[in-house]
Amino acid sequence: MNIIQPHRNGDSGFLVSPALCIDLDGTIRKSKTGRHIEKPEDIVLLPNVEATLWNYKNQGYYICGCTNQGGVAHGFKTPADNVAELEYMSSLFQRNPIDFITFAYHMDDGKIFPYNMRSLLRKPDYGMLVQCEVFAWQKGIVIDWGKSLFVGDRPEDKGCADAARIRFQWAKVFFKWDAER
Ligand SMILES: [Mg+2]
Repeated sequence: MNIIQPHRNGDSGFLVSPALCIDLDGTIRKSKTGRHIEKPEDIVLLPNVEATLWNYKNQGYYICGCTNQGGVAHGFKTPADNVAELEYMSSLFQRNPIDFITFAYHMDDGKIFPYNMRSLLRKPDYGMLVQCEVFAWQKGIVIDWGKSLFVGDRPEDKGCADAARIRFQWAKVFFKWDAER
């Protein structure tokens, strides 16, 4: 039996932090070609991402990446491909501000077992946010969802934030991309 408990003893060691939950594709990264990411070296960070995430992290936000990667369920990618993309993305930061990243590989119309099933991890469900909460808890951090924010570029991101009843902002607003043009 596994019991989820913080690694600190008692309540006195806990920190309370809001979470900044961020989508990845189209929110903090894209492919150089504008098409799907086919290999890690296709990835570039979007404008203002590193400075903005560090601004939130320095204010005490716990930074959580939450990404649907249904290409695994369809056989376009493996979980190892996703991890390789993540490691490459991490290398593009001067200092990576992200605390935790979780993937949803499932799609109910996929072909690859065991990912060809509905999963509550997949946005617009909010299972990945629960994973963030549990992971943070194990590090001695209690997420303050009332002060947390979700940033994404697609309707399923907003749907996830709405389902979890946390604040949402579109990536282009959050990272001030409109002001650059
Ligand atoms: Mg996206």
